[in-house]
Amino acid sequence: MPRNGGASPPTCRSPGHLDEAERRLLKKQCEAFLAAKQFSGAAGFAIDDGVRIAIALQACLPALHLGLSGYRDFVEIVVYPDRFVAPRKQVDEAGVVHEYDDELAGEAMQGGPVVLSWPDADPAAGHVGYNVVIHEFVHKLDMLDGAPDGAPPLLAGMRERWARTMTETYEDFCVRVDRIEAAIPRHVDPESAAADAWYDRLPLDPYAATDPGEFFAVTAETFFTAPQALARAYPALYALFRDYFRQDPLTGAPGLIPR
Ligand SMILES: [Zn+2]
Repeated sequence: MPRNGGASPPTCRSPGHLDEAERRLLKKQCEAFLAAKQFSGAAGFAIDDGVRIAIALQACLPALHLGLSGYRDFVEIVVYPDRFVAPRKQVDEAGVVHEYDDELAGEAMQGGPVVLSWPDADPAAGHVGYNVVIHEFVHKLDMLDGAPDGAPPLLAGMRERWARTMTETYEDFCVRVDRIEAAIPRHVDPESAAADAWYDRLPLDPYAATDPGEFFAVTAETFFTAPQALARAYPALYALFRDYFRQDPLTGAPGLIPR
C-alpha cells in the first residue's frame, strides 16, 4: 500500500517504553531480521549497516511480541535516496482511464518487497508522529491473510472486538474528515498547505480515512509514535492495539495476553 508523503513528517522515537527483557528481544529479532532480509538500494542509493539497522529496529517494533513470521512472505527491502514515483492507472465510474504518477514515501507490495524512501525512514531525521517503516510493515501484517483490509490474522478471542472497534473508530474518523472538508472555504485548495489549518484539527493524519487498510496502518503508526494522541481520541482502539501488539507505549506496561 502506498504511503504518500503528506505534510507531516515521520518518526522513529526510540522505543523507550520497552523494558530490559524487551530490549534484548528486540535486538535478537533485529539480528534475525537482518539475516533473513535482503536490502537493495535503488536509484544509486548505497545501503550500509546504519541503514539496515535503523530500518530493522523500526520494522521489528510492531512484531516484537507477534514474531517475525508476520514478515515471512517477502525478503526484499528496497530503499530509495528520496521519495519515489509510482505510475498509477485508475478507471472512474464513467469508464474513463486516468493515468498519473504518485510520489511515495513507502509502499508494501503483497507477496513482494517493502519499498522505502530513506529521508522518510531515517530516524535521525527527527520526524514526529509519523513513521513510514512501521506503517508499511503493519501493512505486511495485514496482508498475511489477503489484501489489506484493516484486519490482520487474529486469535479467535480478539476477532469480534477487533471488527467492532475498528469499524466504529474508522466510521467516526471518516465523519470527522467529512466535517473538516465541508468547513474548508471554497477559495482554499484542500490539497494545498493552506488547508492544513483545518486538517490539523483532526486527531490523526487524514490519510487514515482512505480505507480500512490505511486506517490500521496510520493508527498503528500513531500508537507507537504519538500514543497520547491515539489514546485521547480513541481509547478503545488504543486498548485494542495494546492487547494486540502486547505493548503499551504510554506506560510501558504489557498489554493483555490475547486468548
Ligand atoms: Zn499505507
